[in-house]
Parts: sequence; C-alpha cells; structure tokens
Amino acid sequence: MEAQGAQDIQKIEKAQHDKSATDPGPENQALKDSNPNTFMPPSTDHGEVQTFWSSFSAAHRRIQEGGWSRQVTVEDFPISKDIAGVNMRLTAGGIRELHWHNAAEWALMLSGNARITAIDNEGKSAVRDVTKDDLWFFPTGTPHSIQGLEPDGCEFLLVFDDGKFSEANTTLISDWTRHTPPEVLAKNWGVAESALESIYKVPPDGHYIFQAAVPGSLQDDIQAASESIGPSSVAFDFAMHKMPASRKTQYGEVRIIDSRNFPVSTTIAAAHVIVKPGGLRELHWHQNADEWQYYVAGKGRMTVFFNGAKARTADFNAGDVGYVPKTLGHYVENVGDSDLIFLEMFKADRFMDLSLSEWVSNTPPELVIQHLGISRETLQAIPKKKPLIMPQ
Ligand code: MN
Ligand code: MN
Repeated sequence: MEAQGAQDIQKIEKAQHDKSATDPGPENQALKDSNPNTFMPPSTDHGEVQTFWSSFSAAHRRIQEGGWSRQVTVEDFPISKDIAGVNMRLTAGGIRELHWHNAAEWALMLSGNARITAIDNEGKSAVRDVTKDDLWFFPTGTPHSIQGLEPDGCEFLLVFDDGKFSEANTTLISDWTRHTPPEVLAKNWGVAESALESIYKVPPDGHYIFQAAVPGSLQDDIQAASESIGPSSVAFDFAMHKMPASRKTQYGEVRIIDSRNFPVSTTIAAAHVIVKPGGLRELHWHQNADEWQYYVAGKGRMTVFFNGAKARTADFNAGDVGYVPKTLGHYVENVGDSDLIFLEMFKADRFMDLSLSEWVSNTPPELVIQHLGISRETLQAIPKKKPLIMPQ
C-alpha cells in the first residue's frame, strides 16, 4: 500500500472543511462531544485499526448494600488481552469480602480510606490502612479483603494481570463454605455442626460486597490478626501519596512503581503520569509489554501508530481506559485546561520504554538527517535525555 502523500493530506483537510464532512443524521451527542478526534480525526490518521478506547462510564454497575463494582475486561474490550480493570466503591464499613483469585491484583486508591487485609505464603497476617493515591498488590492466590473506613468509605481502581479476569469469578469465603457439606466443614474445623448454621443462610453465591460496622483501631486489628504466628514481613501496600516524582519537568511529573521499588509487585509495573495543560507525554514505545491505561483526571488525546501507514487518534476523559499493544508508538497530549492524570500499566516486572527523542539523539547524526531531511540545528535541539514530559 502506498503511503499517504502530502497531496492526500491536503485533500483530507479540504474535505474536513467542506460539505464532505457535514453530518445531517442522528448522533449520540454526548458521546460525540467527548470524542472530537474520532469525529474529526487529524489528517495524519489513516487506516482501520482495532478500538483502543473503552470507559468504565459505559460499564454495568453491580450495586449491593455496602458499595458497587464495574469492570472492563477482554469480553467487552477485545484488544485488552493482558489486563482487566475493575472500579469499586465501598461505603464506610462496606466490605469487599474475604476472597482470592487466579490473577494478581494491583490497586490505586482514588478517594477516601480503606483497610486491607491479607495473609502471606507463610500464613502471616498483613493489615494496613490506605488512603488516596496509595497502592496495593496481592499476588495470585493470596487471600485478601478491603473495607471502607470513615468518613465516607473509598473508591479504588483494580488492575489484574489477565484480560479474562472477572470479579464474578473469585473464591469468596462465604461462597466456598456455603457449598461445603456441613458435616465436612464441622469436621474440618473441629467444631459442632450446629455452630455453623449461619454459614448456610448466606445468599447462594456469597456476599461479595456487604455492609458491616466500621472497624476499630488499626493497631487492635494488627495485634489480633498476628497473635498466633506474628505479622507478615511482606509489604502488600505502597504509599504512593508520599513518593517523590521519579522524573519531573516544567510540564509534568512521572512516578514509576514496579518490582524495583515495590518488590511484591512482580507481575504488574506502573507509571503514574501528571501532564500539565499543553504538555505532552512524549512519543515513545514499550519494548516489554502491552500498555493498559486508566484516566484519573483531565482531558487527553492519544495517537497510536499501528505501522504500515495506520494511525488512529482517540480522546480520553476521567474514567476512560486506553490500550496500546506492545511496541506500538504513541504519545498522550493534555488537550484540556486542567492537569491530565493517568496510569500506564503493564503486565511486567518492570517499567520499560524508549522514546523517539532518545532514538534520534543517540544515533549518528548524518544517518538521522538522511532519513528525515531535518537540519543539524533541528536535530541538535531535540532533547538528549528522555524527558518523558515535554516541554522540559
Ligand atoms: Mn481481589
Ligand atoms: Mn506509554
């Protein structure tokens, strides 16, 4: 296929401003207004590509007493094979019940306060309180719970290292016990069958989320849970709200969290990115994994270059999800008037990227000039040390 020439781009630009682009038929106006780069694509966009935009705001909410959840998985978002996401709210006292699953769970606290519990591979207890901008990570098969605290519970984002993960398929303590014969459960715990009647009164598919009393002091819970064999030495939580930026420029800052500074997180790496209005997360790619994105705040647009003359631009707002297959070039630009905050998530033990700037500035200059036809002065002006966010 022939690449787009300058003439084609001029033709497209002309068509975008004449009768060719008029739109007399029906529109979902709200959706159209939040996707201006889909409706009127940059003239450099070209070709058919898989959709890499989704949104929690279009996902079903499972609402129960104590909170709610919604998810974006490969079922509804086919490009997203490596990672699935869940967004959850718990009231003060609301519990996401004791459970585990066959995927590792990474979390970002979006608002409020929560208490998390887990046991490590030696059975030792970890109980911690987390707040906005803190993280946690529970490896595959690690049992855990989450409970909202005062004053108004919490909301958080969960990221799983498997696009097929579903919140509807986790091992709940109430579901498992409810489906074990009472005489077996009684024998298993060495207690009377009559003492276990309450277990068989829970809903057939378990509690999942339910309202309970707000827990007491953290110290009391830590003490009580670690009485028999002591507390876990594993840090399942990470206080990102206290972390200094890994990289900072005039137009933004980036925090990188992976197994190098958060050792338990061996299968999920993250970059938390803040771009000021007008700033740009520079053109780059990731050598080691697909990128799953979650937009926390602001308005951004991303162009993903799919090779072979294919490129597509999409808009992202708070609550949206983006996806970039491994090694495909992309940028994210703040096109709003407030900070753009988003997550770059990878099914990997470490964050890894290369940028277009560092490529051209660490290659023999003549070679680059022969490819791009730019002047030596222009090449000299390109940042030499990957700034991540431009302008520097
Ligand atoms: Mn979980
Ligand atoms: Mn990226």
